Amino acid sequence: MLNIVLFGPPGAGKGTQSERLIEKYNLVHLSTGDIFRANIKGGTELGVLAKSYIDKGQLVPDEVTIKMLESEVSKCPDAKGFIFDGFPRTSAQADALDNFLGTKGEHISIMLALDVPEQELKKRLLERAKVSGRADDADPAIIQKRIDVYNSETFPVKEYYQKQNKFSDIYGIGSIEEIFDRLVNAINNIQ
Ligand code: AMP
Repeated sequence: MLNIVLFGPPGAGKGTQSERLIEKYNLVHLSTGDIFRANIKGGTELGVLAKSYIDKGQLVPDEVTIKMLESEVSKCPDAKGFIFDGFPRTSAQADALDNFLGTKGEHISIMLALDVPEQELKKRLLERAKVSGRADDADPAIIQKRIDVYNSETFPVKEYYQKQNKFSDIYGIGSIEEIFDRLVNAINNIQ
């Protein structure tokens, strides 16, 4: 199995690149943000809870997020591999993912971390808000909060994979094709 953690701050291009990677490698795309948004749209209990955090730019609690992610993985027993997009976002989530995959005799193959300067992220998110309709992309204060949460809570997850020699830093500026080629090169290096 090829199991990829696609990592990076909000606006780094994780969703865009995931779409291409799943096609090339025949993987299942699991974006925790997308799953939360689908639950919000569907008016589920999970959606109501998630919205209260997402609207403030905060992380949804680990326990809820981990349970949801595990349930989504379990729905795809025949998957050739997964792209985890926006997960794990805390060290506790990274630990839980390793343990969970371990129970299935699987593991994370690589963490690909998209590296994009903060100014560029803010520009991209405000631009995306015009088409995504996402309230958390449209408000500069919420964007700042999400970037701050990334720096304080999510950034340390890099180290978690660095220690396992699974970390690959990808320069996230350039055309979509250029960045995709960098990701593919990093994946080819592990196979
Ligand atoms: P994203 O679509 O990845 O930008 O995520 C949008 C929002 O969903 C985030 O700002 C968080 O509030 C929430 N979220 C997504 N993934 C996670 C996660 N792994 N852990 C906690 N909260 C998350």
